[in-house]
Amino acid sequence: MAQVRTRFAPSPSGYLHIGGARTAFFNFLFARHHGGKFILRIEDTDRERSTPEAINAILDAMNWLGLDWDEGPFYQTKRYPLYEEKVQKLLSEGKAYPCVCTPEKLEAKRQLAQKEKRKSMYDGTCRPPEGVIPPLPQDKPYTIRFRSPRDGSTIVNDAVKGDVVFDNRELDDLIIARSDGTPTYNFCVVVDDIDMGITHIIRGDDHLANTPRQILLYQALGDTPPQFAHVPLILGLDKARLSKRHGATSVTVYRDMGYLPEAILNYLVRLGWSHGDQELFSREELIEKFSLESVGKSAGVFNPEKFLWVNFHYLKTRPLSQLAEEIVPYIVAKGYRVPQDKSWLERMIKTLQERSRTLVELVDSAHFYLTDDIAIDEKAAKKFLTLEVSRPLSKLIERLSALDEFSEANIESAFSGVLEEFGLSMGKLAQPVRVALTGSTVSPGIHEVIAVLGKERTIRRLQSALERLRS
Ligand code: GLU
Repeated sequence: MAQVRTRFAPSPSGYLHIGGARTAFFNFLFARHHGGKFILRIEDTDRERSTPEAINAILDAMNWLGLDWDEGPFYQTKRYPLYEEKVQKLLSEGKAYPCVCTPEKLEAKRQLAQKEKRKSMYDGTCRPPEGVIPPLPQDKPYTIRFRSPRDGSTIVNDAVKGDVVFDNRELDDLIIARSDGTPTYNFCVVVDDIDMGITHIIRGDDHLANTPRQILLYQALGDTPPQFAHVPLILGLDKARLSKRHGATSVTVYRDMGYLPEAILNYLVRLGWSHGDQELFSREELIEKFSLESVGKSAGVFNPEKFLWVNFHYLKTRPLSQLAEEIVPYIVAKGYRVPQDKSWLERMIKTLQERSRTLVELVDSAHFYLTDDIAIDEKAAKKFLTLEVSRPLSKLIERLSALDEFSEANIESAFSGVLEEFGLSMGKLAQPVRVALTGSTVSPGIHEVIAVLGKERTIRRLQSALERLRS
């Protein structure tokens, strides 16, 4: 096989959709697997939607996901001369022709067809006889149409769908350049894919219907079509096409919700590709194992709970030093001051890492570490901060204050000393302490919490709990 060249060709719409990200991952993994190249092409010919912000949102999300492209980004709006040249070539070879039908006339014919329940197709009014190359009209606006074959069939030999046969009579003469001279979508895609030497086109199966037209354009331009692979779209749990109705569909929104890029890669790729029953893959494993043969024929169903579970896995197994860096923007977003001591931050994260499914959950559950302004839950206080714990609590304050080294082991023995002295079970003291230190009844292990909070903050909070229960 010649060097594999794949591409991701998003039309900017304001954000990178998770379906688009999956398509990009497939192209990326396929290229990496074969030691080929992955190309990024921005299909920005829709000037209204393709704002610099929309383009940046895509580039930013791709960078964050580690979708490193080897060539590009190429912008279609900067490539008009090439499309123009190819339009001229097809015209000069009689493979395209000018059409002076006005939009009004075409619309009237379309409505008539609809009324008569016929398929609306261009009727060939301006199509010249075979071999005739008509001059370009001088006095009226015209579009350029591709002269599509009127019989036979076009077969899409698809790596996922198998052979899909299209009757050429169903394909009318496609407009390849509008009356203002700008080229149209299907034409630009083919010219670019030829020019960029793309060998494999992996994309959503919503593009399958465009493919026979594109194949005919390849042939007209004197090129052989690449290998196509049309991947089924992602569905929601209700089996409808995934949309905002099912929750967030933007990669950036998942980033803001505290998902990790590796989890997104892993989860999305598994939604349409499999390798036995294996659920979790590292990036290297995906590169090693990815193949088009294992892309599924049926649509993957997006399950938010499972996605969370995959994220949980990646969070749990992530090195603390890395998390301590990654967590910073989330701490800022919640309005906390960022702790300057990185090793303290790592210790804090360590107590919460296995209890959080996202970085946002992690920061939320770190509230009592990140601020001293904690609100004590009223119900918990009523239940646990009662007069009968006042003596054990005072004793604990005394013992903790006396510690030279505020280690977890020393904290634990101070704790058990108090339990023994008062004949209490662990829960009888741990819960009141937990409420005093964290404001609630759920937290990581109490010794860990005390060790991370440190002596001064712990004692201050225990003392204010004492004051509270005595008043
Ligand atoms: N620009 C198209 C899209 O965003 C993709 C075109 C293609 O992959 O051929 O849907």
